[in-house]
Amino acid sequence: MVKPRRKSCPGRGKLFVISAPSGCGKTTLCRRLLDDSIDLVNSVSMTTRPPRPGEKNGVDYRFVSRKYFQDMIRSRTFLEYEENFGHLYGTPGKFIQDNLKKGRSVLLSIDVKGAMKVRKVYGRNSVLIFILPPSIRVLKNRLYSRMSDDAETIAQRLKNARRELSYKDRYDYRIINDTLDSAYKRLKNIVIS
Ligand code: ADP
Ligand code: 5GP
Repeated sequence: MVKPRRKSCPGRGKLFVISAPSGCGKTTLCRRLLDDSIDLVNSVSMTTRPPRPGEKNGVDYRFVSRKYFQDMIRSRTFLEYEENFGHLYGTPGKFIQDNLKKGRSVLLSIDVKGAMKVRKVYGRNSVLIFILPPSIRVLKNRLYSRMSDDAETIAQRLKNARRELSYKDRYDYRIINDTLDSAYKRLKNIVIS
């Protein structure tokens, strides 16, 4: 992992870091942002988690083995990495630095601990955005309706959600994902302003 030493950003690009407890709509909102005609590149994280139905390698994540991920840790590939729900997730550092040098902004969809590390390294060149569910009950319904996890995993995700929500005040912006359109409008305004 890159040491938390301040990085310089010679271009005008910014890092938009989006975090949310699992099931809050982060993927849905980020996909919409990337499909919109905004000058923003997506940071594709590496993970040891198996793909969910419909997820594409190299698009949603780079799906790799634990052995490969550990080799990447040793070769200091990651700006930051974390273990979530028994799987490793990491942000490739060079991709981000290369894009910032070209003046391009980068979108990162990562957890709260990862976001805190990015803030340490990139300071005010990072914009931290937290997506909140309207309520824990709505979050639970969304996790069930996504149909990608069993009841035990959903219970774990809800427990984790409570922990992640305690970080919300450390973010620059908080968006409640109530109706998708209004949450998206708020997110887009933050990114383009
Ligand atoms: P995350 O990436 O944060 O885990 P997802 O984007 O996968 O969350 O969203 C979880 C589920 O909730 C998905 O089935 C998604 O279609 C649904 N969803 C997202 N935003 C909304 C919303 N505003 N209203 C209703 N359902 C939503
Ligand atoms: P999921 O398995 O639901 O896609 O992701 C689980 C959690 O890992 C989410 O909170 C997601 O934001 C986070 N995550 C995804 N990629 C990264 C990453 O590169 N670094 C960190 N720290 N968290 C990540």
